[in-house]
Amino acid sequence: MSQHALNRHVVMWSGGITSWATARMVIGRYGRDNVTLLFADTNSEDPDLHRFNQEAVAKLGGQIVRVADPKERNIWDVFEDDRFLGNARLANCSKYLKQVPSKRWVAQHTNPADTTLHIGIDWTETHRIQDISTGWAPWRVEYPLTEPPLYDKDHWIAEARRDGLEPVQTYDLGFPHANCGGGCVRAGQGQWARLLVVFPDRYAYAEEREERLRQRLRKDVAILRDRRGGELKPLTLRQFRQRLEAAFAAQPGLRRLLEPGTVTTRIPPAITAAMAKVVDLDDVGGCGCFTATEQPSSPDDPSGELTLFDAARTPEQMSGVLPYTGADTSLYSRALAGDGYGWLSRILPPPAPLSCPRCRRPTQLGTVPLLWECPPCDTRDEGTTST
Ligand code: SF4
Repeated sequence: MSQHALNRHVVMWSGGITSWATARMVIGRYGRDNVTLLFADTNSEDPDLHRFNQEAVAKLGGQIVRVADPKERNIWDVFEDDRFLGNARLANCSKYLKQVPSKRWVAQHTNPADTTLHIGIDWTETHRIQDISTGWAPWRVEYPLTEPPLYDKDHWIAEARRDGLEPVQTYDLGFPHANCGGGCVRAGQGQWARLLVVFPDRYAYAEEREERLRQRLRKDVAILRDRRGGELKPLTLRQFRQRLEAAFAAQPGLRRLLEPGTVTTRIPPAITAAMAKVVDLDDVGGCGCFTATEQPSSPDDPSGELTLFDAARTPEQMSGVLPYTGADTSLYSRALAGDGYGWLSRILPPPAPLSCPRCRRPTQLGTVPLLWECPPCDTRDEGTTST
């Protein structure tokens, strides 16, 4: 058996900055000839992601393999065929467009005896490792970004630029990741509000497809949820847009907060209060396409034999798992401010202090800073937003 065959490495490539960082690390360790970048195309991606894929691979070397749904469906075609609207709790799009095609390729083209898979979750997501490793068994899975030294996305974006590579435009436009053109069904109200402002055409397409599906299913389903009034209700993209547009008309500062290039320092309390009325500030999700544990959404699931995450398997074959204590806590605040949700972290109210269990006095935050500020600018611009 050749050295090549003994040493195969497959990086789950999304076009996002962490998959690039993972690929660069794996190619640095094992050589470009031994590494395949596996890209599952959802046909819902930002066009700029394909530009990034080409430029990144040209610089990194290695080979990129594209897999996709056999019928080249996009996420909305999947929802319609599956008669199930993906959402933050169950994303059938991820299953059919990313997990199943990737699993099929890995099963057909690699051997678990000589192949290691690499997934670009970082140190803030180590709680996902057990499920992922169990789901991909018997393949060995490693998570290079969970190994010290630990960095956040801002670091990797800067690294890519140092390498002469411009990351996918969504990061600069304020999105926390590059998946599905900013229209990820897992992403929550915060990101959908930004999509409406930054890419109104994409929002309009999603709104139209959601309405169409609701009519076909004759059900009150929606991607988003409304928790106002203490009751959990579906919140359609149409309702959410109308709510946002009314709020933007009444308080133009709200819209500016979501526009590309807006630099926020201290947000006036009126803007914070107005934003909290229209956007559920706790509803900020994220994509976990290679890390989620989707199960079949219907009993006659055509991909049943490829269901990824079999809870009955033991995690004994896990590899590359680092204990959570491996994380450097001094980096918490950088991750909070640097993952693309900086605008939200600035307008969230400060955490309510817990009482000391002994003396009942309010506790205080320790030395770890939770938000980054620029004291000179914050003093100068107090009470304003600027672009
Ligand atoms: S990024 Fe979001 S919308 Fe796209 S496939 Fe994954 S879960 Fe679905």
